[in-house]
Amino acid sequence: CGIIGYVGREEAAPILLNGLRRLEYRGYDSAGVAVYHPEDGLTVVKTKGRIQNLADQVEARGGIRGTLGLGHTRWATHGEPSDVNSHPHLSENGRIAVVHNGIIENYAEIKEFLQSRGVHFVSQTDTEVVAQLLEFYYDGNILDAVTKVLHRIRGAYALGVLCADCPDRLIAARKDSPLILGYGDGFHFMASDVTAVIQYTRDVCYLDDGEIAEITADNVWVYDAYLRPVEKQLHRVDWEI
Ligand code: GLU
Repeated sequence: CGIIGYVGREEAAPILLNGLRRLEYRGYDSAGVAVYHPEDGLTVVKTKGRIQNLADQVEARGGIRGTLGLGHTRWATHGEPSDVNSHPHLSENGRIAVVHNGIIENYAEIKEFLQSRGVHFVSQTDTEVVAQLLEFYYDGNILDAVTKVLHRIRGAYALGVLCADCPDRLIAARKDSPLILGYGDGFHFMASDVTAVIQYTRDVCYLDDGEIAEITADNVWVYDAYLRPVEKQLHRVDWEI
C-alpha cells in the first residue's frame, strides 16, 4: 500500500525504513526492502507484520549495505499476508526486484504463459508476474523491458524496479495508483506520497498515468508509455509536517 525508493550517496536502508514508517498511516499487513551493494548484490528483507518487525530483522543481520533500494508496505489483494508474499519480489535469477501497489488484472494468464516457458514462481501474488516478465523481456536494457511489461499488463499499478545489472538507477511507473518523485542534491526518491520524502526534500513532481521515470543520484528522466521524453514541472511543497 506504500512505495519508497531511494538512490543517492547515503546508506539506503535507514532512509527506506524511515520512509515506510511515514507511509504507515495508509495501512498494511507486511513490509520489505531491497537494497543493492556492489559486493553483496541485491539483498531483500521482508516480513509479514509491523515495520518494527522488519527493522528488527534488518538490524539482526547487522544492517544492509548499499546506496540505492526500494521499500514497500503491502495491503494484500492476491495471496495471503505472509513473508513470501511480501514485496519486494525477485525475478527467478534474483537480479530484478519489484515493488507494486495495485492489482495486475491479467496476472493469471501471464503466470500461465511464463510457467509454460519453465519459469518457477514462489509466491501467490499478482506482483510476482511483473518481476518474472521483466526477466523474460530483459536483454540488457531495463527501461525497454519495463516498457514491454507495461504494454502487456492490465490493471492499476505504482511500480518500482531495481535491476542489479544497472545498479545506479531505479525505474518507476504508474497507472491509476499515485507515485511522486522527490528531487535532492545528489539523491532522488520515488514514493507513494510526499509525506515519505518531505524530511529529505520539498521538491517533488507528480507522475501522471502512463508515465515512466528513470532516476539516478544526479538525474531524473521521465518518459511517456512509448519512451518519448516528457518535461515535468517541479512543485515545492510548503506544508508543515
Ligand atoms: N496486489 C499486490 C499484492 O497483493 C499489491 C498490494 C498492495 O497494493 O499493497 O501483493
